[in-house]
Amino acid sequence: MIFLKTDDEIELLRKSNLLVGQTLAEIAKAVKPGVTTGELDKIADEFIRDHGAVPTFKGFPNPYGSPFPASICTSVNEQVVHGIPGDVVLKDGDIVSVDCGTYMNGFCGDSAYTFCVGEVAEDVRQLLKVTKEALYIGIETAVHGKRIGDIGYAIQQHCEAHSYGVVREFVGHGIGQDMHEDPQVPNYGRRGYGPVLKQGLCIAIEPMITLGDRHVVMEGDGWSVRTKDRKCAAHFEHTIAVTAGKADILSSFDFIEEVLGDNAI
Ligand code: MG
Ligand code: MG
Repeated sequence: MIFLKTDDEIELLRKSNLLVGQTLAEIAKAVKPGVTTGELDKIADEFIRDHGAVPTFKGFPNPYGSPFPASICTSVNEQVVHGIPGDVVLKDGDIVSVDCGTYMNGFCGDSAYTFCVGEVAEDVRQLLKVTKEALYIGIETAVHGKRIGDIGYAIQQHCEAHSYGVVREFVGHGIGQDMHEDPQVPNYGRRGYGPVLKQGLCIAIEPMITLGDRHVVMEGDGWSVRTKDRKCAAHFEHTIAVTAGKADILSSFDFIEEVLGDNAI
């Protein structure tokens, strides 16, 4: 069931999503060689709670195992999504995808960004750049009257033109009072297929793109997803609202990129 949002509800979604952007900017300040992913999680958890919100990921149920134990997902190098923060020490040349969710005033925020740790190889930086481009290409496609398949098609075309893999097993989603609502928003698809995009539809678009082939496996912790060939993966995510014109991006990378300056992807 797809819930279209009123303008007031969209403003509440924007507040939760801007807090995600600000939280990711706090993480941007801390990402450097020597920091652990557990330390990043602590920064995010405190920042979110200090701003009157709850980290939605903490305790998120897993039908196959334990609930998610942390407030952000930190997926390093070949990890694609849902990496669990802990003792992993980030080192020069790594990348880390940080996914963050907040809940405040009854509405959810959800956004993700892949950070470089120190000096990262050029082919990996290029993967990040193209994944972020693909996110914005998907968002440009998300206009009233188009279909969900148009978004996935646009993302897939852009990434496959660079010979990257487009992960199929995990997808974007509707968002509102629940973090995951209908419809699913795949990063692949056929033009003209899927649910129609209507004004008030709020969705998270989140390409998960790999340097090698698209196949992924679940790690033994029951959460972390990594590439089968162990090549790097990137993940960028925005929450948007479909409007009569251009999509309204409710989350923001501005806070992050202000911190990263010239090092932004
Ligand atoms: Mg997310
Ligand atoms: Mg999401």
